[in-house]
Amino acid sequence: METIKTKSLSRSLLKGTVLNLGLQLANRNLSKNNFWQTLLVGAAGGFGDYFGGNAAMGAIIGGGNALINKTKDFGTAVKYAAIGGAADLLLKVKDAKALKPYQDEPIPITDEFLVKAQKVWFKDFPMEYVKMFTVENVTPRILNVMEYHNAHGVTQETTIKNTNTEKKYFSGKSLVSFKADAFSSARYLFYVMGHELMHVYQNILLKGEPYPDNQVDYQVLTNLKEFYAYNFQKEILGDNSKKLPPCTAEEIRESLIKYPLYNERFQYFSFDWIKTINFIYPF
Ligand SMILES: [Zn+2]
Repeated sequence: METIKTKSLSRSLLKGTVLNLGLQLANRNLSKNNFWQTLLVGAAGGFGDYFGGNAAMGAIIGGGNALINKTKDFGTAVKYAAIGGAADLLLKVKDAKALKPYQDEPIPITDEFLVKAQKVWFKDFPMEYVKMFTVENVTPRILNVMEYHNAHGVTQETTIKNTNTEKKYFSGKSLVSFKADAFSSARYLFYVMGHELMHVYQNILLKGEPYPDNQVDYQVLTNLKEFYAYNFQKEILGDNSKKLPPCTAEEIRESLIKYPLYNERFQYFSFDWIKTINFIYPF
C-alpha cells in the first residue's frame, strides 16, 4: 500500500477502481488489536461515497498506512486519518482567516440569532429532526449538566417506547440546548453548533435502533459519537483550540468493536449537509 501515491491513486480513482481499493481495505481481517487499521478502514469507507474520483482519498490511504506501521500516537493518527477529508472539505467551508476581525465581536444571545446563524452556516442540515434549538429556554437540569461537564452545548436524543416490550428506541429526533458561553464569538458558536448538529445527525442515523439499556453501553456509544463530533469540529470546521477527542484510544477502540455498524454510519465525510457548510459573518 505504501507504494500507492496520491497521483497514481487519483488516476485509478478516475478509472473507477476506487471501490476495489475500498473493498480490499474493508476485507482485511480486522483483529481487535489493530485499532488503527479499523479506524482507517472505517474512514476510507466513508470517503468513497463523497470523494469519488478525488485525489484526497490518496492522502488518507497513503498517510494512514504509514501511520499503521509507524505510530502509536493517537492524535497524530487521527489527524492523518481525517486529513484527506479535511483538505478538500475545508475549501468548501468558506472559513478564511479574513474573518478574524469579527472573532471577538459580541453576538446576540438569542434564539433568533441562533436560528439565523444555523440557516446560514449549516443551511442544508435537516432541522426537522431538531425539536428544540435554544439558548433562551434551557431547562435547569440541562443547565446543570452543561455546568458540570463544562459544556457549552448539549444534544439530547429522544426515544420512543414499545408499549408491549417496554423497550426504548431512538426516535431520530433531538433537543439542542446552548449555554450563553457558546456565544462568546461567532466563530466559537459556529464550532459549538456544528458539534451539536453532528450529534443530531448521529441520532438521525440511529433512528429505530435500540436505546442502550444500561449506563456502560450508553457511555461506549457516547464515546463513539464524541469521537466523530470532535474530529468534525477540528478537521472540518477548523477548531484547533482543543486537544481532541476527549476519550482515550482504548475507549474509542472499545466503541468501534462494540458498535462497528454505527461506526460505519457515523463517517461524516459522505454526509450531504457537510458539503454546504459556510461560515460567514455578519449576515
Ligand atoms: Zn459532544
